[in-house]
Amino acid sequence: MNSEKPFSLDELPPVTSWLCDMDGVLVREEHAIDGAQDFIDALHEHEIPFLIFTNNSIYTPRDLSARLSHSGLNVPEEHIWTSALATAAFLTQQSPKSSAFVIGEAGLTTALHEAGYVMTETSPEYVVLGETRSYDFNAITRAIRFIEAGAKFIATNPDVTGPSEEGILPATGSVAAMITKATGKSPYFIGKPNSIMLRAGLNKIGVHSEGTALIGDRMDTDVQAGIEAGLRTHLVLSGSTTKAEINNFPFRPYKVHNSIADMVDVVIENYKEAEETGLLDKLEKDREEEEMLRSPGETKFDAGEDKKDEKDEKDSKKKLFDKFTR
Ligand SMILES: [Mg+2]
Repeated sequence: MNSEKPFSLDELPPVTSWLCDMDGVLVREEHAIDGAQDFIDALHEHEIPFLIFTNNSIYTPRDLSARLSHSGLNVPEEHIWTSALATAAFLTQQSPKSSAFVIGEAGLTTALHEAGYVMTETSPEYVVLGETRSYDFNAITRAIRFIEAGAKFIATNPDVTGPSEEGILPATGSVAAMITKATGKSPYFIGKPNSIMLRAGLNKIGVHSEGTALIGDRMDTDVQAGIEAGLRTHLVLSGSTTKAEINNFPFRPYKVHNSIADMVDVVIENYKEAEETGLLDKLEKDREEEEMLRSPGETKFDAGEDKKDEKDEKDSKKKLFDKFTR
């Protein structure tokens, strides 16, 4: 959109990439929701970039992919985006390959490890709190002392409770509250409703907000984060929100649907429109250009053409700058 005036979301180009919440949208209590696999298949078949996201930081993408497959859904791990991965992406931008004292499970420790972080109990730069099933008083004591001594406090997600078959469980937000009470310091929460989780996801799959839509089942997390990230938001009523509850919020989703089953046609219609209008070809070209700029070392320049190359690079950097700042 090259418009200085406010514009309606209907004026945006067709959706060419998707972010989709997991619980209440694709699965409910470990069972696949009707239409979920058709939705995933439609994305695969047309090679549409997408991520399935969750605030749960316990599991690695591989674990989650296996759990989904148990529910009858085939989602390869590279399409799964957790608050733990978003935390690792955030910390890499803030302070690459630094150190952290971590309270969390494999989902978080693996993500930080792969991001080059050292997990330490000796003056860490960060205390990173994630979801766990076995809280350890000693670990919480150490976290509190590190924060007291100046470590920065980060938490994967703000959820205060999580579901289980026997009833609710205390979650990351509850333990964070205990640490906050002891230290007087609140964490920076990465997971939704913080839109940073979605923005980091867009970066991961190399797409932009204006061509991306989000599907979620909660107004206070999914839809709010989606709006703040500049995405078109589709609320499905298969999870924790009823139609009447939408009006309790001062913002509204772009569209409301009964379930993910209704999204299959929406995905395909948007894809066809993008193909027919030449948008897909244009995006492909843009992507190649951006990749070249991100890894200039791989481009071989002829020594005699240095000046010209410098100019070309300047031109294309300017183009990219214009693109991101419009
Ligand atoms: Mg949900």
